[in-house]
Amino acid sequence: MGGTEEPGSVDLQLHRAHSARMYDYYLGGTTNFAADREAAGQAMAVFPWARTGARENRAFMHRSTEALAALGLDQFLDIGTGIPTSPNLHEVAQRADPRARVVYTDNDPIVLAHAQALLRSTDAGRTAYLQADVADPERILASREVRETLDLGRPVALSLNALLHFVADDAAALAVVEHFKRALPSGSTLAISHGTPEFAPAETERVTQVYAAAGTSVRMRDKAGIARFFDGWELLEPGLVPTQRWRPADGKVEAEDAEVSAYAAVARKP
Ligand code: SAH
Repeated sequence: MGGTEEPGSVDLQLHRAHSARMYDYYLGGTTNFAADREAAGQAMAVFPWARTGARENRAFMHRSTEALAALGLDQFLDIGTGIPTSPNLHEVAQRADPRARVVYTDNDPIVLAHAQALLRSTDAGRTAYLQADVADPERILASREVRETLDLGRPVALSLNALLHFVADDAAALAVVEHFKRALPSGSTLAISHGTPEFAPAETERVTQVYAAAGTSVRMRDKAGIARFFDGWELLEPGLVPTQRWRPADGKVEAEDAEVSAYAAVARKP
């Protein structure tokens, strides 16, 4: 594996549906192909709110990043970044603090192919992109991209948004998150958004099957299963709540719990 590959050498597997490109399609992006649109269409046929869910998930990333920047966090490690969609996390963070530093990581080669958009940092700040699997936290933390961009002796804001439901094995998902939690210093934060079957059981089961048929295993988790990822860290207000209810802009909640079918929270290491 080694370091970041050159985009030119990447097999983008355009004939196969990819979760990152399906998500891009929900968001109205243009980095998706026929196979992605077909699978995304099937997902929307059984889960008609996919677009609302994707938009609310993105909005949580904006609000949580703003909140963390306001708390003084200026180093961000974002895993499962997704295809660039403006504003990306560094744009939100650097609007608050132009010196903010961000490392993005994703395992999908199509995200790497578009990483240039993630690297347009302010002059005062810095951004880096690393192609890596979240299942290999050791490699991520030891990477040149992380070491040269972030000071792991100071608090880091780790975000795993709409990522962990793609790590289907419960024990593996917990082990990965615990590895990062141990490695980061006190004052670091963890933001997670995660799909749940609780609000629309039949629809989420069907959408899980669409992803499975497209080659991606998805594991929706209930509130207790998602809460476990934060064990030992202090949840910031309002705790673990349906994603659109996490500090909604102007206090206005725009979507139903079933439409988003996800929980989100931010916690801080004591
Ligand atoms: N975090 C972004 C994108 C979510 S889409 C947002 O919330 O808007 C989920 C992303 O996770 C996709 O880009 C997909 O490629 C990536 N992903 C899925 N499994 C992964 C893994 N094992 N390691 C790293 N990234 C992964």
